[in-house]
Amino acid sequence: MQTTHRYALPSPDPDAIEGLVARLWAAGTLGVEQRPDELVAWFPKPVDTVPEGGVWSIEEPQDWLALWKAGLEAVRVGDVVVAPTWVEDVPEAEHVIRLDPGQAFGTGSHATTRLCLLELQRLDVAGRRVADIGTGTGVLAIAAAKLGASEVVGVDIDPEAIAAARQNALANEVADLHLAVGSSGDLAGGPFDVLLANLLTDTLVALAPELAALTAGTIVASGIAVERAERVVTAFREVGLVVRARADDDGWAVLVASRA
Ligand code: SAH
Repeated sequence: MQTTHRYALPSPDPDAIEGLVARLWAAGTLGVEQRPDELVAWFPKPVDTVPEGGVWSIEEPQDWLALWKAGLEAVRVGDVVVAPTWVEDVPEAEHVIRLDPGQAFGTGSHATTRLCLLELQRLDVAGRRVADIGTGTGVLAIAAAKLGASEVVGVDIDPEAIAAARQNALANEVADLHLAVGSSGDLAGGPFDVLLANLLTDTLVALAPELAALTAGTIVASGIAVERAERVVTAFREVGLVVRARADDDGWAVLVASRA
């Protein structure tokens, strides 16, 4: 196991975080963690292409994958329990989703996924057509199918996410999900009754016109840091969408919007 190099940027400006994270990925980070007072990134060796103002330190070798896996537990959100495939102790629930995340995002442990799962259950998706943009592990798409959606389409720009989502859909016996590499612009068959979009503020702002064109009902949007929520509200308003509800969890917001 290798030594990793830790780079911590203290107190980043909330408006700058998405840009900093993009630069850390471009600099070759192994992973980024956004903490309340710092942004931390890990590297195989120190690099000078990171944003300025941070502090390097060395971390002793650890089996990161084993640690990460051991840290993941079953998560309950309303009537849905999301559990990694290797977890044995799974609480009973009306709907249980078993996930092997692989490299994809969406284990249920992140606040944005939980917020979306909760809103999804508040909406009555039975018999509705649902599209999930940025499906990651497929967690929200699988949940929508289990909650009785008549048709579920999921897209993600990351081919690895789609590969993981396909596996997870099969493992959860919701094999009739339509999963494809792409984004909102690639979604045929719209408009949809429910659009799920757990992306990031900048992405939601950029995609707002497409999201508006694709919706015949409700949009559930998250991946929004609370300080930046107003930006998405404004971008949605400009394309004729009204935010009807908002909920926050752990510094993240979910917005529920529909046509004005
Ligand atoms: N829906 C899952 C995963 C959300 S993470 C959940 O709620 O837990 C966000 C996902 O969006 C990532 O898998 C990322 O690859 C994807 N993504 C980022 N930008 C995108 C875009 N413009 N269009 C489609 N997918 C995108």
